[in-house]
Amino acid sequence: MASPHRAPYAADPSRTRGRRHAEPGPAWRSEFQRDRDRIVHSAAFRRLEYKTQVFVNHEGDMFRTRLTHTLEVAQIARTVARALALDEDLVEAIALAHDLGHTPFGHAGQDALNQCMKPYGGFEHNLQSLRVVDELEEKYADFNGLNLTFETREGILKHCSTAVAQGLGDIGRRFLDRTHPGIEAQLANVADEIAYNNHDVDDGLRAGLITVAQLRELELFREQHDAVLQQYPDLPSKRMAHETIRRMINRLVGDLVETTRAQLKEDAPADIDAVRAAGRAFVAFSDGVRDQNLALKRFLRTNLYQHYRVHRMTLKARRVVEGLFDAFFADLRLLPPSFAAAAHRMEAARGEAGRARAVADYVAGMTDRYAISEYERLHDPARGG
Ligand code: MG
Repeated sequence: MASPHRAPYAADPSRTRGRRHAEPGPAWRSEFQRDRDRIVHSAAFRRLEYKTQVFVNHEGDMFRTRLTHTLEVAQIARTVARALALDEDLVEAIALAHDLGHTPFGHAGQDALNQCMKPYGGFEHNLQSLRVVDELEEKYADFNGLNLTFETREGILKHCSTAVAQGLGDIGRRFLDRTHPGIEAQLANVADEIAYNNHDVDDGLRAGLITVAQLRELELFREQHDAVLQQYPDLPSKRMAHETIRRMINRLVGDLVETTRAQLKEDAPADIDAVRAAGRAFVAFSDGVRDQNLALKRFLRTNLYQHYRVHRMTLKARRVVEGLFDAFFADLRLLPPSFAAAAHRMEAARGEAGRARAVADYVAGMTDRYAISEYERLHDPARGG
């Protein structure tokens, strides 16, 4: 099912490195389309709707959730993929799966769970996304997980320590060899960054945590804002913000397409293996735009992610995640039976680290609201179990 528009360096679904468990090929879809469809049908994907991006799910209906974030990543990635004649299905599959392993309460939740797991190998949401698609989804008769192709799994695993990589087999290889993944994987990673930087500006403005005056300190914002002001001086402030952010995304995406195209032209990798072996990343911004983008990232870290109102949420999230982890780890009888069984099984195989990992799997899989109600059920004597 080869597309006539596929560039030689794009991933080719008819030449996939295959799945962990052998299966007959799909009848009407490409291998990567099948991956994407399996991801959309997964329980972990549905739960993204009720997981925090930056603002806790119940703070307002207008803010990004991890699901809408994921959809924005997918569409930015697809736009660039089409412009560069890459495999759109693969890049979409990677984008839709990239946050499946995220804990409730965004980065606050991930940091808290990582803290709990410190003695047992730590917790990293990126690695957990791979664990969800490889192990934790229980849907299919013949195997655990979604049994995705190597290429999708390669894209999901964005980063990984060498210690962990050693235990991951072929998917961890590139972290030991220090090589890069295929172009689609590189692209999904940058699309993630473009999506969250820009939508966090939008959400931050809506929440009143950051202001246009502050943002004008940033070249990336100011250039686009000036252009909008000049063309539409009387635009109401909300539209002004949207129009500016829309142009920021276009600026980043346009620069990414042009720079990446030029780099690919220069090296002309013959196929995906040549991309992996190239010793450089092809998907990149120009130097100027990379600096503008870095400045935006730094700005958001200081002014939004460390804002006192976000920090309060962080503190509460930590309390909930730690409270859940500690209670379940201390007494497996508090877990629902299927998770208790998994914990006993994993403890028998790997001792305390196995027991902790099973508890982390349960906690990481929770939505924000489920985590809060589990916490209340465990800690509030007035609530039923
Ligand atoms: Mg993301």
